[in-house]
Amino acid sequence: MRGRYADFDKLEVLTRITGTLVNVSPLRVGAGREAPLGSTVDTAPLRVVFADGKSVPYIPGSSLKGVLRSLAESIARARNMPVHSPWDPEAREEGDDGTYCVICGTFGSTRLASHVRVYDAYPEGFFAPTFVKTGVGINRDFSGAQPGILYTEEQVAPYVRWKFMMDIVNIRVFPQPADERGGLLRELLELLANGMVQVGARRTVGYGLIRLVEGRYDVYEPRDGRLAKVAEGEIRGGDL
Ligand SMILES: [Zn+2]
Repeated sequence: MRGRYADFDKLEVLTRITGTLVNVSPLRVGAGREAPLGSTVDTAPLRVVFADGKSVPYIPGSSLKGVLRSLAESIARARNMPVHSPWDPEAREEGDDGTYCVICGTFGSTRLASHVRVYDAYPEGFFAPTFVKTGVGINRDFSGAQPGILYTEEQVAPYVRWKFMMDIVNIRVFPQPADERGGLLRELLELLANGMVQVGARRTVGYGLIRLVEGRYDVYEPRDGRLAKVAEGEIRGGDL
């Protein structure tokens, strides 16, 4: 079901989600694509570098938004809602009649800005210990371990706390979702609170599992030319 989601001319409602993400398994969000298995490159988490030369890992908002979008796509697919790749030629026509699908109407497309902004997540107190793991390279052609090819991989240790912030513009999610997009975003936040979302590398072996704790929402609406808080509350995991 498509909707008229190009509504950025007027701010009607702003929802700010805040909380703490805890990675309950090792985590590494790297730059760009993962190095292919079997290569000898070393991999390390993305880091923000301070003026004094010290650095600390962080989770880019674009990575968090990316996993939320793909999760939303799988939920939509499971419900037999049409889902398209952003590069699908047919999808380029989306918007010609002013309507967009639920996914683009939430996370944006080449023609529509995103209604969701996820900020970079930095570790609390800028403290994120890492460990280095040495692995054996796998030869893809022969699908077996190849002795002699070793790689080292730096991971953030589990149970680091990351500051989480996300803004949602003109979609009502709390206290009650007003449309499909609000319902979907609410489900995504509940999955986060249930520790069911993964980000970064090595997800197939369970790495990068994150849980939202102390999650809360604050809803603002324009009143007499300024933003006024109209609702607030906690975000808890849903019943699974
Ligand atoms: Zn779309």
